[in-house]
Amino acid sequence: MCEISHFDAGDLVGVLTTQPLDRLLDYKAPAGGCFLGALVEVPLGPRKVLGVVWAKGQGGFDPKKIRVISRVLDVAPMRPEMHEFLRRVADYTLTPLSAMLRLATRAPGLMDPVSMRLVYTLGEGEPDRMTPARERVIAVLEDHDGVYFTLSELAEMAGVSTSVIKGLVSQGVVLANKTPRDVAYPTLDTQHVGKALSPDQSAAAARICESMETGAYGTWLLKGVTGSGKTEVYLEAVATCLRQGRQALVLLPEIALTAEFLKRVEARFGARPAEWHSGVTMTERRRCFRMVSQGNAGLVVGARSALYLPFRDLGLIVVDEEHDQSYKQEDGVHYHARDMAVLRASITSAQVVLASATPSLESWANARAGKYTRVDLHERFGVAEMPVITSIDLRAHAPDRGHWISAPMIEAVRARLGRGEQSLLFINRRGYAPLTVCRACGYQIGCDQCDARMVEHRFQNRLMCHQCGATKPVPEACPKCHELGKLAPVGPGVERLAEEAEALFPDARIAILSSDLAQSARAIKARIEEIASGQADVIVGTQIVAKGHNFPLLTLVGVIDADLGLQGGDLRAAERTFQLMRQVAGRAGRADRKGAALLQTHQPDHPVIRAIISGDDEGFWAAEAAQREAAGVPPFGRMAGIVLSSPDVAQVFDVATAMSRQIAPLSKIGAQVFGPAPAPIARIRGRHRVRLLIKAAKGAPIQVAIAAWVAQFRLPANMRLTVDIDPQSFY
Ligand code: ADP
Ligand code: ZN
Repeated sequence: MCEISHFDAGDLVGVLTTQPLDRLLDYKAPAGGCFLGALVEVPLGPRKVLGVVWAKGQGGFDPKKIRVISRVLDVAPMRPEMHEFLRRVADYTLTPLSAMLRLATRAPGLMDPVSMRLVYTLGEGEPDRMTPARERVIAVLEDHDGVYFTLSELAEMAGVSTSVIKGLVSQGVVLANKTPRDVAYPTLDTQHVGKALSPDQSAAAARICESMETGAYGTWLLKGVTGSGKTEVYLEAVATCLRQGRQALVLLPEIALTAEFLKRVEARFGARPAEWHSGVTMTERRRCFRMVSQGNAGLVVGARSALYLPFRDLGLIVVDEEHDQSYKQEDGVHYHARDMAVLRASITSAQVVLASATPSLESWANARAGKYTRVDLHERFGVAEMPVITSIDLRAHAPDRGHWISAPMIEAVRARLGRGEQSLLFINRRGYAPLTVCRACGYQIGCDQCDARMVEHRFQNRLMCHQCGATKPVPEACPKCHELGKLAPVGPGVERLAEEAEALFPDARIAILSSDLAQSARAIKARIEEIASGQADVIVGTQIVAKGHNFPLLTLVGVIDADLGLQGGDLRAAERTFQLMRQVAGRAGRADRKGAALLQTHQPDHPVIRAIISGDDEGFWAAEAAQREAAGVPPFGRMAGIVLSSPDVAQVFDVATAMSRQIAPLSKIGAQVFGPAPAPIARIRGRHRVRLLIKAAKGAPIQVAIAAWVAQFRLPANMRLTVDIDPQSFY
């Protein structure tokens, strides 16, 4: 950043706004002047927009025409580290700075004045009589102790009218307090002693905490099987960070996991941290943003976008389940939260802890190369042992047509039912059936807008496109040959598997767990808690069950189709299958009962299946790394995915072909261009998609080259181009 940090009234300043313009705009500093980094409101045409004082003004315009900043907002100025972070993410991901600023100012009410308002909390009073609506209000307040709700937010969360809440206020059951809009979060008590750690845990925690004390940057790969106590280890690092007076951020891959984590933080530190994710109310988001910027929130638990919060002094970032795909944002700004966490930490001299039982090959390789420091927890905590994993060869034990649960699997589930233990049948497919086919003419029902098949969701009694979300009723007659009653589902989804389980185990309580079957994160959380407390015998679930939840009574994990992820040529197919199978198998046997995992497969000798079963993680990663290294693909080479899309299929191919022929800026760095080819999903929402793939050597300056290459072309107005650096999926 430049050396001047204060501007006097009338000085020229360059303002970056959240509007999609590709340059800074010159303004005059307002009366009283302003600081570099100040968040400001500026006039733009007839409107007032949000911006940040980014640099000295450029000049060169008629000074009389330059407008004055309307006002400096009552928000902490953007710190130089944030400025640098946004700039470097923009450069890395080839994103305009204005879009980065939008990411970094995604809090409601930034332009509002600081004021008082009423918030609602639980009081001491007893209601004269209890009604279901009143109960819900009280339950929400009890569940969200320490959270501030406005009247309308509380009414919405509880699903009641505001008059119910007012009634409770009049009886002193609920209190309406006048408070400043934003209140500091309670201080977490770091003197509170945590759990006594095992020798493995203590050693890991000591090493990480020691490096925290240096105040320098460093990244740790904390590897340990599910249940080995990684969370306890990184909570020690959080405690050290807070004691130093710095702030900590814990990223989780899934909102449904936060509830359990918040409880653990509360048990460890006596208070709840700040939360930042899509399930948080507007009031809390606003509070979190402001308190983080003032240093009045010590710990934030959040989703990937929490990386862009204006921390005052960020000392630690934990990325839990660091291998999880949801850390990669695939719309808008294409960034990987794990990689950007490392970048942010390196700028603010913070430590990063990447925790996983099955690290990404990227992190594994970075640890091997000495860029990250690896610490391993070798065993499960306490008496719990890792489950034994074996395969069921479907060639020898084929279920009947239209069935998917093999005889050995049925037997294993029955044995658990007999002992009062839980089983999980896992299939990574939502809905009832992935395909609906006409038995008369062979027609397959597809989406009208996308190049994708419609998936039957029997629960909702509709067909759904998993690309664009479009739905339609299941037709009575085939849309093509018009025969009645010939449409049939083909293949299993989680709903169909549950139907089969119900028929096989009529006395068992069957629970389905799939992300689309619950209305909200709250409902999913409630269902998970029910299952964990033993209110189900057989759980039929999609990958939502693979993620970090604790089911103490679960002793059997049955994978219905272990081969599913191995199909298709995705570069990460083996890695993903390995991770998913190990994660889901890790759900079994977490408490004092030993677990088992059974994988149904047609190819028990496939190297990936063999690696999963043998438990030779290092062998698997080393082999996978060697293959990728030989092919020059990530993490040993660089890749970028370019997708062009347009309603006009001929036009989009023409432009892509032209682009593939003028590649001088790419050739200069030795990059290769593949394509154009139809993207794997060739049409989404009516737009035809064509893909080019760029491959370069590891050290090549791929972003600069791509920017120069793209700049050669003028795209037609209805065409869109997206650049995905380090693509994680190729859709
Ligand atoms: P991971 O994060 O590696 O999956 P957790 O930290 O969630 O593992 O630990 C698994 C279980 O073991 C949790 O229920 C946790 O409370 C318990 N646990 C872990 N470490 C300890 C410890 N040192 N003392 C007591 N319980 C522990
Ligand atoms: Zn669609």
